[in-house]
Amino acid sequence: MFDKREIDALSTALRKMAEGFADLPSVETKVDFAAMTAVLGDVAVRMQGNYPYHHPLYVGQMLKPPHPVARAAYALSMWINPNNHALDGGRASSAMEKEAVADLATMFGWSNALGHLCSGGTMANLEALWVASRRNPGKKVVAGRLAHYTHERISRVLGLEFESVPATETGVMDIEALNGLLKNGDVGTVVATVGTTGLGTVDPLPEIVALRDQFGFRLHIDAAYGGYFIIANELEASVRTVYDTIKQADSIVIDPHKHGLQPYGCGCVLFKDMEVGAYYKHDSPYTYFSSSELHLGEISLECSRPGASAVALWATQRMLPMTPDGEFAGSLNNCLRAARTFWLWLLSSDDFMPLMEPQIDIVIYAAKAASATASSERARSIFAAAAKDDLHLALVSVPAHIVATYWPDVVIDSESVTCLRSCLMKPEHEQWLEEIIVRLARAANVTNH
Ligand SMILES: *Cc1c(COP(=O)(O)O)cnc(C)c1O
Repeated sequence: MFDKREIDALSTALRKMAEGFADLPSVETKVDFAAMTAVLGDVAVRMQGNYPYHHPLYVGQMLKPPHPVARAAYALSMWINPNNHALDGGRASSAMEKEAVADLATMFGWSNALGHLCSGGTMANLEALWVASRRNPGKKVVAGRLAHYTHERISRVLGLEFESVPATETGVMDIEALNGLLKNGDVGTVVATVGTTGLGTVDPLPEIVALRDQFGFRLHIDAAYGGYFIIANELEASVRTVYDTIKQADSIVIDPHKHGLQPYGCGCVLFKDMEVGAYYKHDSPYTYFSSSELHLGEISLECSRPGASAVALWATQRMLPMTPDGEFAGSLNNCLRAARTFWLWLLSSDDFMPLMEPQIDIVIYAAKAASATASSERARSIFAAAAKDDLHLALVSVPAHIVATYWPDVVIDSESVTCLRSCLMKPEHEQWLEEIIVRLARAANVTNH
C-alpha cells in the first residue's frame, strides 16, 4: 500500500547532507527509540481513522498525497528545520524559495514578479487583498458568488467593504451584473476565480479585463485550485483563452498544496508590480543582520515560515518541471480526460444528471428523482452507500437555477440542490475510472426504489 523505496532515497540523501556538516563535533541523540517506536505504532493506528485520501477510490474533496520527492525533500530538511522568515534562519532554503516562486511566476508568463510562499490559499489571498486595499484605499472588493468564501471573510478581517457578484446559470461571474456594480464607481478590486472550489468553473477573464480597461480596478485572480492547468494542453478552447489571460492580472494566488503535489502548508501569492513590496516595510530589531540581500520576511505578513515547504516545492519542480510537454502537465491532462469521460458516462446514465461539462477536473452531478428535494435526498443516500463500498464522493449545494439549466424537467421545490461532486485530481483517476463507475452504479442501484 505505501511504497517504502522513498525512505531508502531519503536515507541516501541524509548521508549526503551530513557530509556538509562533517567538520562539526558529533552530538549524541538522546532519544528512547523503543518508546518512540511504540508511540509511532499508536499514531499509525490513530491515522487509520482517516478516509483513504491517497487512494484513487477517494474521489471526493480536493485531496491527494504529495509526490514522493516532495515528501522526502520535506523530511530531509526537517533534520535542520530552516525558517524562511530571514536569511539568518533559512539561508539555503530561502534561495530555493526564490527560485521555486520565480518558476511559478514564469508558468503564468511573468518574468519579474514579487512573491513568496505562505501557509495556504487563505493567507495568500489575504495578502493580495491587503495589498489591493493599500493600492485603492476606501474602495470595495467584489468577487463572484461562487468564489471561495474566504474572500468575504478576509475582507471583513481587513475592514473592507465586500459585495458578491451573481453567478450565471453556467456557474461563472455574471459580466452584466459586474458591469452594473462597476458603474457605481466604488469598486477598487475585482477577484476572479480560475477553478471555483465548488464547481471547478473559470470566470470569463477576457471580458473582465475589458471592463478593467474601462473602469480601472485592481484585478486579483484566485487560481488556488486551478492555476496549474495553465500548462495542460487539453483544455477546451474557451477555457484556454481564460488561462492565457491570467497574466494580465495584478496579483495571482496558487496553492501548490492543492494540485502541485505538496504537503499542506504551501500556498503562493504573486504580484506583478515589484513596488508593492514597499507596503510590507517594517523595522525588525531581531533579524536581518546577515546580509543586505532580500529577506523573504520583508515581503511576507507571516514571520516564521517552513523552509521545508520551499525545499519540497523546489525538489518537485526540479523533478517535474512545469512545462507543457512534461510529465506533470501530462498528469493534469489525465485529470481533464478522466473528468470528461466521467461526465459523458453520467450523461448516458439513468441515475444521474450531470451539470456543466467540466472545465477542469471537477464533475458535479445530481441524482435523478422527481423533484429537487427528492434529488438532494437521493444524492445523500448514494454518497453514504458508495462510502460503504469504499468509494468516497463529496456533496455540494448548488443554487437551483443552475441545476435547472442542465435538468429542465426536474420540479424545483427548493432554493438549492444537494449534488454529488468529484475531484478527479489524482494522476491515477483516469485508469481507475471504470472501477469508480462500477461502484457508483452499484450505489445508485441500492437507492433505486
Ligand atoms: C482552497 C481554496 C482557497 C483556500 O485555500 P487554503 O489553501 O485552503 O487556505 C481559496 N480559493 C480557492 C479557489 C480554493 O480552491
